[in-house]
Amino acid sequence: MPTTSDFERMLRGVALRVTRPRVAVLSAVHDHPHADTDSIIGVVRENLGEVSHQAVYDVLRALTTAGLVRRIQPPGSVARYESRVGDNHHHVVCRSCGAIADVDCVVGEAPCLAASDDHGFVIDEAEIIYWGFCPTCSTAASS
Ligand SMILES: [Zn+2]
Ligand SMILES: [Zn+2]
Repeated sequence: MPTTSDFERMLRGVALRVTRPRVAVLSAVHDHPHADTDSIIGVVRENLGEVSHQAVYDVLRALTTAGLVRRIQPPGSVARYESRVGDNHHHVVCRSCGAIADVDCVVGEAPCLAASDDHGFVIDEAEIIYWGFCPTCSTAASS
């Protein structure tokens, strides 16, 4: 489990100044993978007290740009954030409740799929979303 000093080191590693909101947001994303912005704001407020929506949005944008946080947004979902970056994993999303889980890439480095026609583009990523029903929703549907 990373500590506050680990988060501070991560921020310095990407040349971001260490601030309490940045550490709090990074820690919240770490503890709550695939959380949406509202959930992250809730967690940050538990730790820091009153923090504006805008401040959290700004920190999330800075962390995403710096590569410390990955932003995913499945169609029909709000943006979600996670701290698992740089390993080319994919996601499975529940069609019913929107739950998201990580799926390790079995093929390897990005882009792990070769496009049948690249149209001359230099492709560096293939993002796969698997859709289905999570255990809770599939059990509810069959009983
Ligand atoms: Zn579900
Ligand atoms: Zn993920």
